[in-house]
Amino acid sequence: MQRTGLTIVAVMMAGSMAAPLLAQTPAPAQPAPASPAPSQPLFATTKVEGTDNVYVFRYQNHQSMFVVTPEGVIATDPISYGRPQAATTYIDEIRKITRAPIRYLIYSHHHYDHIAGGRPFKEAGATIVGHRRAHERLAARTASDVLVPDEIVDEKRTIELGGTRLELVYTGRNHSDSSLVMLLPRERIIFAVDFNTLGAVPSRLGVNDSYPVEWEDSLKRTLALNWDRQIPGHPGPGGRLGTRQDMEQQLAFMTELSAEVKKAAEAGKCFDPATKEVRLPHFATLQGYEQNIEWSTHRWCGYWGRGI
Ligand SMILES: [Zn+2]
Repeated sequence: MQRTGLTIVAVMMAGSMAAPLLAQTPAPAQPAPASPAPSQPLFATTKVEGTDNVYVFRYQNHQSMFVVTPEGVIATDPISYGRPQAATTYIDEIRKITRAPIRYLIYSHHHYDHIAGGRPFKEAGATIVGHRRAHERLAARTASDVLVPDEIVDEKRTIELGGTRLELVYTGRNHSDSSLVMLLPRERIIFAVDFNTLGAVPSRLGVNDSYPVEWEDSLKRTLALNWDRQIPGHPGPGGRLGTRQDMEQQLAFMTELSAEVKKAAEAGKCFDPATKEVRLPHFATLQGYEQNIEWSTHRWCGYWGRGI
């Protein structure tokens, strides 16, 4: 059993404000496969067990990593789509731990549900970093609450700050074409968002913007990095972190999905009746299997049956 636990160091809740805030907040654009219990506080900041300075900030069903050093803070995804108060809460939570400047805000990928809300970080002096494709896509669109990265990563960049080393690695196209793996080599922890669902079948939004087959290669490249634990962009089952076994399972699911849908495409069954017929009994116990398997089949049918 790998170490996957989190130690809760600070949990705050808006008290009587929580219900109205929740009521006014749009549903997350990317529903996570493993939803936290409804009774869970609106947000929480947790220090990752076994680390000195690595934290997870969760707001409703999204989460991001931040690292605190004497010379400044490295923050990631502001997770404020449809709820600008999440970004200011995130900064308030950082400020309870340190007064050091927020030096960086790093985007995991370009999807708004993870990266909307960068403005207060920028105003606090942070430099926004994202993959080249995230920059291209965001610069071409005009979402007022989504800021374009100031600095671009192509294949790899290393950030050294206050004795902490963070590697930003592009492992190829997967759930998006702009996903950066953020690796803390000393802690052997990665922050990886949306392309490795923990014990679950990807949702519709998990596969809408995805790259079948290349996704498998990206998982293999990510597995080739030196890490033991993954901080996911949505809480894992019971709030746990991800493991290499989770990623190996995701890879196995996609490999089998791809082989089955390819057969269906060759038999002229894409999109229908393949979406109704393709089933992967080895993976039937994964969370969301019944609700989501057709979305995966549909996306892979696009690839194998239509060249999409
Ligand atoms: Zn996404």
